[in-house]
Formats: sequence, structure tokens, C-alpha cells
Amino acid sequence: MAAVTTEELDRMLTRLKLTAIRDQLDSLLDEAVRGEMTLRDALAFLCQREIARKDQRRIDMSFGLAKFPFVRDLGGFDFTAQPSLDRGQIRDLATGRFIANGDALLLLGPPGVGKSHLAVALGREAIVAGYTVLFTGAMELVANLAKAQADGRLEERLTHYTKPKLLIVDELGYLPLDPDAAHLFFQLVSRRYGRGAMLVTSNRAVGEWGRVFGDAVVATAILDRLLHHSHVITIRGDSYRLREKRRSGLLQKPAAAHETTTVST
Ligand code: ADP
Ligand code: MG
Repeated sequence: MAAVTTEELDRMLTRLKLTAIRDQLDSLLDEAVRGEMTLRDALAFLCQREIARKDQRRIDMSFGLAKFPFVRDLGGFDFTAQPSLDRGQIRDLATGRFIANGDALLLLGPPGVGKSHLAVALGREAIVAGYTVLFTGAMELVANLAKAQADGRLEERLTHYTKPKLLIVDELGYLPLDPDAAHLFFQLVSRRYGRGAMLVTSNRAVGEWGRVFGDAVVATAILDRLLHHSHVITIRGDSYRLREKRRSGLLQKPAAAHETTTVST
């Protein structure tokens, strides 16, 4: 075989989109020689490096598209601070099986107990597992849908929110929704139903959702779909934020009677 110039090899690797191999060719080949790899092992080694780069690219891009409001991961979640949580269940959810099944996951509990932290952390795990994710606040979501409707582009917007394999809706119920907003949310939930998973965080128990949506009929229709294939996790604990303050002596521990949460199942 005729000798191939560096430029020609470079062009072939570019054409095959093997950019990691192309960019690090010398050092990868050195490593293969130093490791006394067989040709077969060397080929596998080069493939591994290429795949690792492509996976990392996909993950980086998916993180950008997911629009997480902050960086949190499961490793940074202190389970001992939240004994009501089943660590095994969270780990199971982190595998992303609920996303493959198109299930809904509801994370309920009072403010500060780590709902948003877990939502972001599970979203992160979902991306690593290969799913597309979009994170949005509930108010921002309905405002965007309302605006799209006013502009005659509701379909387009609903599609935008239906595409990701996992849609995370944070802080549903902090403010009640007006009837139009509730109906738009219903349309989205129907659209995703059976197609894509949703993760919803709320400080309201499911029984209070009638008030959140301002209409018991719409609330029931939404809950029917969300609860059909669902995992409901209620965190009943102290606010982590306040706990940190309490630790530093800024706050007194509340009396036991005040520790009951607003959430029940
Ligand atoms: P929620 O969404 O339930 O109101 P957050 O998830 O926003 O609460 O939590 C408030 C803050 O406390 C965040 O900075 C979060 O990372 C942190 N936090 C909450 N619970 C824990 C925990 N168990 N371990 C570590 N950090 C936590
Ligand atoms: Mg939150």
C-alpha cells in the first residue's frame, strides 16, 4: 500500500467524522505502541476514544438545551437530612426507566426540602442515560403557552414542550392558575400523555390541585392523566435552607406541631 500523507489521513478521518481520533492521532498512536496493543486492540481503543468524545458532545449539547436553572446532582443531595425519602427509589428513578415508560413523577412537599434540587439532578441523570430533557417553571410555561396562543402559534409551542422525552415542570401551585392557563396546561398534559414523561414539583398535595387550577373538572382531567402511570414522592421534612440557618444558630428548631407539612397523600 502506498504511503499516506498526514494530510490525507487527516482528510479521511474528517470525512468519516472521526474527529477525536483525528485531533489526537499522534498521542493515541503513541499510547497504542507503548501499550504494545495488537491491531485489534488498537482499533478498539481508537473507537472508544471517538465514542467517548461523541457522548460528551451529546451530553454537553443536551445540558444546554435542557435549560436547567442551576447545577445540582444526586451526589450533592444529603439523604440523611431527608429521612422520608427512599434513597433506593430515587436511585431507581435515576436509571430513567420511568422516562422510557412515559410515566409521570410528582415531587411534592413544602418549600426548601429539595424538590427542585432532585428535579435538576434527575434531569441530569436522564441526559446521561441518553434522554432529551427540558426544564421549565410552571408559571413560565403557562405564560409562554398563553403568549403563543395570542400570537396564533400555540401548536408550535405545544410541540416544543412535547418533544423532549422528559419535561420538568417546577413549582406548580405556588400561584393559582387562571382558567385559561389551567386549560393550556391541560392541553400540554394531554399532548404528552402516553408519549413523554413529566416530572412535576409542587408544594401542594394532589388533593389541593382543584384550587391550584381554579376548576375541579380541569384539575381532575389533568390528574387523571398524570396519575395514570405515576410515581408520587412526598417529602415531609424540614426545609434544608432553614436547617442550615438553624445549624448556624440563626433560627430555633420549630416546635413539633409546626413541623407537619402542607402536603399529604
Ligand atoms: P424546594 O424546591 O423543595 O423548595 P430546593 O431544591 O430549591 O427546595 O432546595 C433549597 C436549597 O437547599 C437548594 O440550594 C438545594 O440544593 C438545597 N438542598 C435541599 N435539600 C437538600 C439536601 N437534602 N441535600 C443537599 N442540599 C439540599
Ligand atoms: Mg423549588
